[in-house]
Amino acid sequence: MTLIIIFVLGLVVGSFLNVVVYRLHSGESVVFKRSHCPKCGHELAVLDLIPVVSFIWLNRSCRYCQTKISWQYPLIELTTAILFVLLAQNFQFSIFNFQFWYLLTVICFLIVIAVFDYKHYLILDKVIFPALALVTVWNIFLDLTTHYSLLTTHSHFVSGLEGALLVSGFFGLQYFVSRGRWIGFGDVKFGLLLGSLFGFKLSLIFLLVSYAIGGAFGLILIVFGGKKLGSKLPFGVFLSASAIIMMLYGLKLTNWYFKLLGL
Ligand SMILES: [Zn+2]
Repeated sequence: MTLIIIFVLGLVVGSFLNVVVYRLHSGESVVFKRSHCPKCGHELAVLDLIPVVSFIWLNRSCRYCQTKISWQYPLIELTTAILFVLLAQNFQFSIFNFQFWYLLTVICFLIVIAVFDYKHYLILDKVIFPALALVTVWNIFLDLTTHYSLLTTHSHFVSGLEGALLVSGFFGLQYFVSRGRWIGFGDVKFGLLLGSLFGFKLSLIFLLVSYAIGGAFGLILIVFGGKKLGSKLPFGVFLSASAIIMMLYGLKLTNWYFKLLGL
């Protein structure tokens, strides 16, 4: 039962995230405007807004002007729903817990960053900094509610700062050396968020995972997608995907990796 509720919640939230991505680009208010068709501007009724179902039922097109609707919409809805379920599974579906909702919110931010970067090759401060604020507040909250105290070496807050310096510094170095050709400045700022999220130790693993995933995808795109070595790739997509994988399977990955090294 919980599974179905979480899945449906994921579909609804995914539908909202599509709107967020669209309106961040168009500059419309995310909250205070009724949904409308981006082509003809017709306000959408409830029937047009059911995640995935409307898309299939209306034969992938707007009821009012027949413009085809992008596959992005149901794809993001389904992806969000599946990620919500996978996260809930990590919590054995006992979801009355702050950490679950915190991680769920972070995943939403990462989805918006990934989709926006994929479409526009841009990572927005408007998305990064609210997420960074959330993660920082969470780290401080953890310090205040556990026996660790702020500003000691065991502090989540301090570990977050170290992680932010590590990831952002690592990206910043590449940005500096390549004069922005390998990596964008948006990724450098994204590094602050990712490092704070994972803390110092997990940030090291995160960098390994993201370069493995980025490299694999890059290779696939070059071999099958007609991209050239040195083509511009939306790096934020790989970073977001890696971060979500780390959030879901970080512990397992870390154990596996240390075993591999014989530690
Ligand atoms: Zn329309």
